[in-house]
Amino acid sequence: MHQKPDPDAMGSSLGLAHFLRKLGHEVTVISPTNWADFLKWMPGCKDVIDYEAAREKADAELDRAEWLFCLDFNTFYRTRFMAKKLESMKCVKVLIDHHEEPHTSAFTYGISVIPKSSTAELIYEFIVNSGHKDLIDLPIAQCLYAGVMADTGSFRFPVTTSSVHEMVATLKLTGLDHSKIHDHIYDSYLENRLRFIGHVLCNRMEVLYEYNTALIAIPKADILKYNIRTGDTEGLVNYPLSIQGIKLAALLIDRDEERKWSFRSKGEFDSNNFARTYFEGGGHYNAAGGRSSDNVEENVRKFKIALKDVASQLQ
Ligand code: 5GP
Ligand code: MN
Repeated sequence: MHQKPDPDAMGSSLGLAHFLRKLGHEVTVISPTNWADFLKWMPGCKDVIDYEAAREKADAELDRAEWLFCLDFNTFYRTRFMAKKLESMKCVKVLIDHHEEPHTSAFTYGISVIPKSSTAELIYEFIVNSGHKDLIDLPIAQCLYAGVMADTGSFRFPVTTSSVHEMVATLKLTGLDHSKIHDHIYDSYLENRLRFIGHVLCNRMEVLYEYNTALIAIPKADILKYNIRTGDTEGLVNYPLSIQGIKLAALLIDRDEERKWSFRSKGEFDSNNFARTYFEGGGHYNAAGGRSSDNVEENVRKFKIALKDVASQLQ
């Protein structure tokens, strides 16, 4: 899975792991970095290896591997410090992902379907197409449901096709309690996170009406003051899109080692292309991310210059 895994990265990986174990395979799940507390309820999550925290153990597992499944990312740099190791491995490498512009030559086989809602949906289809739909049990359903729920914005984004709803119908037959999963992911934060959101919306959001864009830039001091942890900023980038007319929302967070960008757009604005062109990133058409080693002020300056370039796409 990609670094700082979201519910789709963690859910699709664990869902596939549970399935493969049912077929008698030995499976180890590795995350390149730590992950948010709101993922810790997922069946199997406590056995996931954090590559940054337990590199030797993870490398030993990777050295033993005959098959490497890469889920919810399509280019090795998305795994940070794991990237070199993954590149050097000689085993069969399988990509299963739905992001734009896969680095195809890095993989032996691949399922890369950009219009798909989520990697969880691709794993669901992988299981069904392999003739093992009957092996989908409650733990698999819980993991895959979390992934598809998160990546479809709780079933509201245009990628929410009838196949997504058919998949959910099948998952429900395992006894899945979907309300509980929503609660685990979206209603399990601590008070500090809500106070932090109040603060950044009041004091760190700039609305640039001439570009139908809103920008939230968060300095390190805010992260420290509100004791913000991995996962606490998830979803924050979506808030400005609720303002009438806003087509692009951008969030910049000062992390220790780099500045991290998130972009969300509505309609005909290509976030993937924007992130790739200006901020060493990528992702989907309406949701992408990027990064930079410049400081916050420099990033904001570059963002505003970039907006001038793409102004016509934001009208
Ligand atoms: P987020 O803003 O939630 O971090 O990311 C939005 C989407 O873009 C996610 O699907 C994520 O996997 C992808 N993404 C985030 N950062 C990057 C990046 O640096 N490069 C690429 N290729 N994709 C990214
Ligand atoms: Mn995904």
